[in-house]
Amino acid sequence: MNRRKNLLILSGLVTLLSIFLMAVTGIRVEASAINDYIIGNKIKPVPITYREGTFSEWDGYENGVGKPEGVVVHDTAVDGDSAPIEEQSFNNNWPTYQAYVHAFVDDSNIIQIHNTDYIVWGAGPTANYKFVQVELCHENNQDGFAKSVANDAYYVASKLIQYKLPDTPGVTVLSHNQVSQKWHETTHIDPDEYFVRFGYNMDQFNDLVGYYYNNLKSSGDVYGANAPSNAGVAADNVIKVNNVNGTYVPLVAFQNDGSVKKITNRALANNTPWYTDQTKQFNGVTYRRVATNEWVDMAYVI
Ligand SMILES: [Zn+2]
Repeated sequence: MNRRKNLLILSGLVTLLSIFLMAVTGIRVEASAINDYIIGNKIKPVPITYREGTFSEWDGYENGVGKPEGVVVHDTAVDGDSAPIEEQSFNNNWPTYQAYVHAFVDDSNIIQIHNTDYIVWGAGPTANYKFVQVELCHENNQDGFAKSVANDAYYVASKLIQYKLPDTPGVTVLSHNQVSQKWHETTHIDPDEYFVRFGYNMDQFNDLVGYYYNNLKSSGDVYGANAPSNAGVAADNVIKVNNVNGTYVPLVAFQNDGSVKKITNRALANNTPWYTDQTKQFNGVTYRRVATNEWVDMAYVI
């Protein structure tokens, strides 16, 4: 009896151990599944659209205008929302909300609504004067979540590069949760509580930011040397441009110092399609390349 009892206990322990191992393994697989899906499918982040909004406060960071120290990652906590919906909501209501952020991201949009050289109100006074702030909208399925996270990580990596900041999780990339724990000026724990719905967490997100950051720095592409060789043939690489305020669409040329200069002897006709293969930013504006050194402001893309 005793022996049988011991065997039962032993078999029970083995079962418990295997359940535990399955749980651990399952969690690990689940946690990396999103990044594996994004990188495996080379999900291409969308370009950053910059539409300056209505926020009328123009304060510099504690280190000055154009000197953020990193990026705070939020989620909107609104199921069923989207970047354009949030853009409109905050542009209409920020004085009531007493809140504003630099950008909203969803599965198909990265919309920047305030120049990141200046602060916004999203994470308490200390963090506001230090960080660019981006909000991730809620998706309801894994594919949408993966696309939105790819866009979010691309935005974060782009901002770190734009401001010549290192990618240091917890220092230059923080969740709102980490900001709350560090300065105790807010109690929000986003985006962690949203990430967990998809088995995701900030460590995984930081892995993706780091991957994009390193590839963008070394090759200008989020997938680096592994970028698809057919890059440039996707449907979204044909853009149509229009200038509602004029008869043609102006072009700029990038200068050696990274700034842009208006091209005076050439422009694009309204309502014309153009093949584009590159995206570049200057001063918070995103440009698409249409010729060797001829670039069009994304604001003219329809
Ligand atoms: Zn937040």
